[in-house]
Amino acid sequence: MCGVFGIYGHEEAAKLTYLGLHALQHRGQESAGIASSDGRQLKLHRGMGHVIDVFSQRQLEELSGVHCIGHVRYSTSGASALRNAQPIAINYSRGSLALAHNGNLTNADELKHDLEELGSIFQSSSDTEVIVHLVAKSRQNSVVDRVADALSQVKGAYSLVCLTEDSLIAVRDPLGIRPLCLGKLGDSWVVASEPSSFELIDARFIRDIDPGEMVIIDGRGVTSARPFPEASRRTCIFEFVYFAKPDSTLDGVNVYEARKNLGRALALQHPVDADIVIPVPDSGLPATIGYAEKSGIPFEMGLVRSHYVGRTFIEPEQSIRHFGVRLKLSPVADTLRGKRVVVVDDSIVRGTTSRKIVKMLRDAGAAEVHMRIASPPTQWPCYYGVDTPTRAELIAATHTVEEINQYITSDTLAYLSIDHLVHAVLEAQKTHQQGLIEQARRSSTPPPPAGNGANGEGAATNGQLASSKSGSFRLPVHGQALNPTAFCHACWSGDYPIKFTPTLNKEQLRFLHL
Ligand code: SF4
Repeated sequence: MCGVFGIYGHEEAAKLTYLGLHALQHRGQESAGIASSDGRQLKLHRGMGHVIDVFSQRQLEELSGVHCIGHVRYSTSGASALRNAQPIAINYSRGSLALAHNGNLTNADELKHDLEELGSIFQSSSDTEVIVHLVAKSRQNSVVDRVADALSQVKGAYSLVCLTEDSLIAVRDPLGIRPLCLGKLGDSWVVASEPSSFELIDARFIRDIDPGEMVIIDGRGVTSARPFPEASRRTCIFEFVYFAKPDSTLDGVNVYEARKNLGRALALQHPVDADIVIPVPDSGLPATIGYAEKSGIPFEMGLVRSHYVGRTFIEPEQSIRHFGVRLKLSPVADTLRGKRVVVVDDSIVRGTTSRKIVKMLRDAGAAEVHMRIASPPTQWPCYYGVDTPTRAELIAATHTVEEINQYITSDTLAYLSIDHLVHAVLEAQKTHQQGLIEQARRSSTPPPPAGNGANGEGAATNGQLASSKSGSFRLPVHGQALNPTAFCHACWSGDYPIKFTPTLNKEQLRFLHL
């Protein structure tokens, strides 16, 4: 999982990108980077670690220029190493280009092989470099057409930002798997993986970038194009369960509301007699609030999370029970003692952490422990940019719910169904829409049209461009009206929206049992 950010036309572009990336830090902590342009040349700084560690005041000042893109990375393709950090920047026959990518390409190995046959030399093992080589090799004239040409050859998930000397291009793949949105800060345009990063820099959310849309920002203003064949949307629904920040609203769905709905649905689908309901903090928190609200069981913080856990630890020589989990979570014994406890978590991956949590709660005095999971059993790996373990390591791929219940030693275990999950997210979109309509009614201004990207001045239609120089560029802000088929839920259903090519590496095929 990664986060991307871009800003066009601001005196403090590098510092604002630094802040934007900081707000996206939850999407990747392995490396961070910023590329800047002063209109003539690109500058780049990348490093391993958190945003705050990678950039100093001096480094940000050296990233001179008024246009920037940035990236935070959590590796899903390619090793965790500086050579794979992004943005990737190149000089090619037509100038310079920097590119930052969130997602994962499913035909990268195949394309890389073909490019190497034609003489390309790769500097990294990241799939993103394939896009850069395809852009450099394209026979199209303009950089916009070159990027479109390159992306028409790739398969998989991509929300990406590209920077040239004098333009910023933001593109979302035709299925809209990963999020991408557009905002404004004064006269400057901003793009980001999540709108919560706009908040920190006082930018205004304008709208989500549509699946298959390319937004070009340059000296002429903003242009929107749809260079790819139309496809049915398959947005990653796990963004709403786990990845995105709760204060983000993606594609018209507020993440916090969606998670509360998951908890409400879980309470209806899997009720249990209990004294308290507690979250596994922080990711299980909103769903627990929803569960408590719907079930009437009192909400308590039976587990407290440490926010100061770094990346490496020196373990004591004498083993301490639940050492790894204890670093992050501690039980509140007085709250738990003698209680029948419902514990709500977002997912179970290998089962080892849940097992330790159940044991920790019992040791602290809980009379019963009932696990409730706000998503279905995770049975399949993700190939679109999320770092899930292989199928063999996913406990639900090889065990029934009852076997998992026995393994983690809970009294009962239950998961939310896919149908309930999808419905909960759709309900959150309705709530968001109603909130906007109500707000507009109160302020007596008509709400912007709920759109599919084809409404309003400046919106794009297939194969056409539409542009505006003004800040009053009218764009649909509600996002597309989602329907039950608009989501990827392959990590639970195995229904992958992008079929695999035979070039998927042998290890991946083996674990997929293909
Ligand atoms: S496989 Fe799962 S995590 Fe990956 S894109 Fe689909 S829903 Fe999201």
